[in-house]
Amino acid sequence: MQFDILTLFPDMFQGALSTGLLQRAVSHGLVVVNLHNIRDYTHDRHHTVDDYPYGGGAGMVLKPEPIFEAVESLQSDIPSEQAAMLPIILLTPQGRLFSQQIAEELSRHAQLVLICGRYEGIDERVREHLVTDEISIGDYVLGGGELAAMVIVDAVVRLLPGVLGSEESLLDESHATGLLEYPQYTRPPVYRDWPVPEVLLSGDHGQIAKWRREQAIMRTLQRRPEMLDRAQLDNKEERLIERLKQLR
Ligand code: SAM
Repeated sequence: MQFDILTLFPDMFQGALSTGLLQRAVSHGLVVVNLHNIRDYTHDRHHTVDDYPYGGGAGMVLKPEPIFEAVESLQSDIPSEQAAMLPIILLTPQGRLFSQQIAEELSRHAQLVLICGRYEGIDERVREHLVTDEISIGDYVLGGGELAAMVIVDAVVRLLPGVLGSEESLLDESHATGLLEYPQYTRPPVYRDWPVPEVLLSGDHGQIAKWRREQAIMRTLQRRPEMLDRAQLDNKEERLIERLKQLR
């Protein structure tokens, strides 16, 4: 999978891309991340990327020309049918809220373009005539789209086949099945006065799976009850939830 990231600060990505899972995915050739400096697509002596907002107001706005040129240059490098389908994603606090479902959706593409804004944002014509999708990573305002792009790259890359050591670990993860994940423990079996739940030491995989499923349901009910409306639950589990709700 290939990511093409348009940014004014390509250096910000070096730490994320040279560490852990992302570094491994890149070095194994499972992922290519190309960083494009928006400034390289300017033509004036000062490499100007921003200008004052029409109508006045605080701050600067990113100019449309370098962003259009950068994206059109990427599109011209690939066959036109592929270019027509290429997702061009603007990171913006006004976009659809990023989620595990959106990460899964994005992981099915062979290539994504991510545009990182800065300052007061980007000239509206980029949004109107160039981008195909707008994503926010949360209801807060960041100084730039770079951290948001890293969040998306990280969440998408770990879904790609071969990136995680064990494919199974994806299945139980929080949000994968509409539930939060069950609690995890490792050695020692007793730390200070706090023992690991006995069932996990029993070696009985049927009981362990049952305990984990119940814990995931209980945890989701406690922390994110609205998620249960979309979770896949059998009748017994629905009844368990009703009982737990009555105990609250
Ligand atoms: N003035 C803009 C507004 O109110 O919508 C916010 C601009 S913000 C200071 C600068 C850039 O950071 C944005 O263009 C966007 O690329 C990025 N950004 C900020 N918050 C974000 C969020 N929650 N999700 C994704 N990108 C974000």
